Amino acid sequence: MASAPYNDRDGWMWMDGEYLPWRECNAHVLTHALHYGGAVFEGQRAYNGTIFKLKEHTERLFNSAKILGYEIPYTQDDINNACKTLLEKNELVDAYCRPIVWRGSEMMGVSAQQNTIHAAIAVWEWPSYFSPEARLKGLRLDISTWRRPAPDTAPTNAKASGLYMICTMSKHAAEAKGYHDALMFDYRGQVAEATGANIFFVQNGELHTPKPDCFLDGITRRTVIDLAKKRQIKVVERAIMPDEMAGFEQAFLTGSAAEVTPLSEIGPYNFEVGEMTKTLMFDYDALVKGKA
Ligand code: PMP
Repeated sequence: MASAPYNDRDGWMWMDGEYLPWRECNAHVLTHALHYGGAVFEGQRAYNGTIFKLKEHTERLFNSAKILGYEIPYTQDDINNACKTLLEKNELVDAYCRPIVWRGSEMMGVSAQQNTIHAAIAVWEWPSYFSPEARLKGLRLDISTWRRPAPDTAPTNAKASGLYMICTMSKHAAEAKGYHDALMFDYRGQVAEATGANIFFVQNGELHTPKPDCFLDGITRRTVIDLAKKRQIKVVERAIMPDEMAGFEQAFLTGSAAEVTPLSEIGPYNFEVGEMTKTLMFDYDALVKGKA
């Protein structure tokens, strides 16, 4: 059954310093971000009432805004407190939380110097980004024809809305062919990431993952690297060329929404849902649920 449309739900959101009924949180059609793609946002999960790595997510939100050239007119504490209060007001303990910041509509045109900076936060129940059955069998990934841009082509270390245009196009093309998601290469032709998650491979008992030099260095990615190191698993961050995937035994995605999600296929390459992937999946689950 389809869930209720996201613009038509009960509950509370936070917008520009106030808690408002869900349906009243709207922006004008002449909002700069809608036309020119400069919103910055975060995505974080709450487990048993606590938002995992909230401080790190909020720091990244403020850093993304700074990269795009604007200041968020609130403190990081204001945003953190609003995220926590929203969970309580919506009576949620296991939830997804989405803060977003954008330039408003006082000026129209590419220049946005005088526009008010707006901020909003929503929380909702979002059990699993990919269905549990698909996760255990391993997801099937298409290979996108779109490439992650170079760091001098786009602000690649910001979590900014405009960067997701090619992600949506890649994901739609993948879904049209029956895949769950798509792997994207970068401007050099190296393996980069999926449309909303980072990627890891297992080879001879070691973890290999691309260096995040033109895409988001995910908070989950860093968490999984720490978990692997705790188990004395060697982690190699390096340039990975597509044809190397033929020699990798396992592959998985990481992200706040995707968590640790095994892969069974990427284009012509096949992977098993193996022990190391499962171990890290369970370690991550225990950590976020405070059981580690
Ligand atoms: N890459 C992209 C494009 C993403 O959207 C995300 C999800 N925020 C990630 C990587 C993973 O980042 P994180 O682990 O911080 O959620």
